[in-house]
Amino acid sequence: MRKLEEVLNDWEAVIGLEVHAELTTLETKMFCGCKLEFGAEPNTHTCPVCLGLPGALPVPNKAAIEGIVLAGLATNCDIEKHTTFYRKNYMYPDMAKNFQTTQGPVAFCMRGHLDLDVDGPAARERHGLDALEPGQAEGNITRTEDGYTAHVGITRIHMEEDAGKMVHVGGGEGRIAGATHSLVDYNRAGTPLIELVTEPDLRTPEEARLFMQKLRAIYLALGISDCSMEEGSLRCDGNVSLRRRGSAGLGVKTELKNMNSFKNLHDGLAYEICRQAEVLEEGGQIYQETRHWDPSAKRTIVMRVKETADDYRLFPEPDLAPYDLSDEFIEAVRAKLPELPDQKAKRFEAEFGLSAYDARHLTEHGSTARFFEGCMAEAAGDAAALAKPVANLVINDVTAYLNAHEGFALDGSPLTPERMVELVRLAEADSISSKQAKEVLLAVIEEGKAPKAIVEERGMEQVSDAGAIEAVVDEVLAANPDKVEQYKGGKTGLMGFFVGQCMKAMAGQGNPKVINELLAAKLDA
Ligand code: ADP
Ligand code: ZN
Ligand code: MG
Repeated sequence: MRKLEEVLNDWEAVIGLEVHAELTTLETKMFCGCKLEFGAEPNTHTCPVCLGLPGALPVPNKAAIEGIVLAGLATNCDIEKHTTFYRKNYMYPDMAKNFQTTQGPVAFCMRGHLDLDVDGPAARERHGLDALEPGQAEGNITRTEDGYTAHVGITRIHMEEDAGKMVHVGGGEGRIAGATHSLVDYNRAGTPLIELVTEPDLRTPEEARLFMQKLRAIYLALGISDCSMEEGSLRCDGNVSLRRRGSAGLGVKTELKNMNSFKNLHDGLAYEICRQAEVLEEGGQIYQETRHWDPSAKRTIVMRVKETADDYRLFPEPDLAPYDLSDEFIEAVRAKLPELPDQKAKRFEAEFGLSAYDARHLTEHGSTARFFEGCMAEAAGDAAALAKPVANLVINDVTAYLNAHEGFALDGSPLTPERMVELVRLAEADSISSKQAKEVLLAVIEEGKAPKAIVEERGMEQVSDAGAIEAVVDEVLAANPDKVEQYKGGKTGLMGFFVGQCMKAMAGQGNPKVINELLAAKLDA
């Protein structure tokens, strides 16, 4: 198969996402009073309503409707005041009612959008970017200084309920194939679930990933879901089709089910784009089907051919009256909207003089943003001067640590804003090098000590005194007259050798900047 970049030269990928989020922060289920709790003893949170026993009647959970309205307002949707619940009929043991309660053509939230900022190497996957000037728009994208902004339409967000959980026993890796029997746990049945559907406006796997990340950040800021892709409270299906560059129609799409990480979503779509291109280039045909991404085998396999809406025999739910939202309710929900990541990023730019890139990365996670603000409060009068170096360490090193250590949380960790600022002050004063700053950062987290104590303990104090360094530089040059000769004859690559010798002589504690300056002054004289 060809590589993604090559394929995207000839073909345009068209991608739309369907994102399910369980409203895990609620107390109770969607249509009954059963408690919501992940990981409870199986079948302990059930009742006649969520088990679909005859005669049991559902009552909508108002707090869940508040949650979906929050989601709609935060994603620029129109809130529909008059909507109806529908039955989506299907027979599978994970839903004892034999239908899922969902919404019909009109959902609580309609016609929204999110704007995605794409930059870095991934921006190059978007075709035709080079032809645009910053500020210039084409289709749904606008060129920016270092990438582009993509306007992604949101078709709708509707309210529905989750199904129970099947556990297949005796097969490989819990799969149904080869299983001897299956168990079902109805604790999850009836969990409030909101499904967001995008327009087919995404064009690259990276855009799909960024959309998911952005949506997750918004839901987390709203506090409506814990958005755990591993535990399945945030799930995503990726729909993708190809068309020849320059043509406008839509090709036949396939749907990748339940991508349970950002990486899987990205890699699954990238694979599927390349697979479809190969099929089409060989004169084959794409079938509308649901496929499963297998990350270890790095390929997608068919799960089933697509069922159509008719198969579900959707009709209005006779046990629930049409739902009317009052203006007062919508306004009361609007008043509860917290500062969203985009707004926070704009404020960080204005308040601390950060670049758009830094501000965006700092505000992607609430805890990181809070930590950064804590550091700025700690830095007080020096906030403007320390904003950039603090941001660098947070975006690169702290984030890397967080990614590598699942379960580590910044809130309440030994890395307090106070210690972070102490560390950055040491680095800014050249008492330690930037490389040492990274080492100290790790030590603060793992040993729970203050940066100054660690620097002292490890004898890290960097030597910046020009007099002391000059003596070493002179020694090194005197000891290597042949190399000095070669350098002056044009072999300037030897500079690295001289710096290395000086560093070695100073046991790694010389300030590299001062060493470089002094060497250059003497060698280039
Ligand atoms: P289905 O009826 O198969 O569920 P929908 O029209 O409901 O399809 O769309 C589901 C998702 O697929 C939406 O996100 C939509 O944007 C996307 N989509 C629809 N048609 C295409 C297509 N031809 N190529 C890629 N994505 C598509
Ligand atoms: Zn119940
Ligand atoms: Mg659909």
